[in-house]
Formats: sequence, structure tokens, C-alpha cells
Amino acid sequence: MSEDTTQQEAPVVAEAAAIDPNAIRVPAPRVPRFKKKVCRFCHNKDAVIDYKKIDVLERFITDRGKILPRRITGTCAKHQRALAQEIKRARMIALLPFVEM
Ligand SMILES: [Zn+2]
Repeated sequence: MSEDTTQQEAPVVAEAAAIDPNAIRVPAPRVPRFKKKVCRFCHNKDAVIDYKKIDVLERFITDRGKILPRRITGTCAKHQRALAQEIKRARMIALLPFVEM
């Protein structure tokens, strides 16, 4: 009887060894889940942020008229500040909406 129990336990131990809990904790090679965004204005020096260039500014506002955050557009801090300022200027002279319904 005692031999029977040891024989039954042996495969269970072997299975546990095959799964190897230590191997699970080893981090897999880092695979980025998103494409690295680059600041459009740093990348392309010709692109200027200007309140008159509605076609450029429109890409950085939502369909509701809100300014898109940096984490979405990938714009750098310096250019995001400039962009926000120019969007606000464009709103003042009614080139861009404050809100869009
Ligand atoms: Zn930039």
C-alpha cells in the first residue's frame, strides 16, 4: 500500500517540475505594445505652430473641440505649450471652436 501511494505521488511531482513556477516569473523579453510617438514639430522643422494654420491645429483637437493631451499626440512639452497657446488664439478669432456639439 505504501508503495502505491509513492507511485501515485511521483507523477504529480513530475508535472509540477514541468510547469516550474520559477520559469513563469522570469520576465519575457520586453515587447512594446505601441509605436513610439515622436513630436511632429521636433521631427519636421518646417512645421510651424501658427494660429492661422487651422489645418495643422485641427489635428490636435478632438471632434468636440478640446485640445488633445500630449500622451495621445506625442507632442513634446515645449511644442504642446506653444500649440495650446495657438489653439486658444485661433479660438479667440473664431477660426476654431471653443466647443462643438
Ligand atoms: Zn517638439
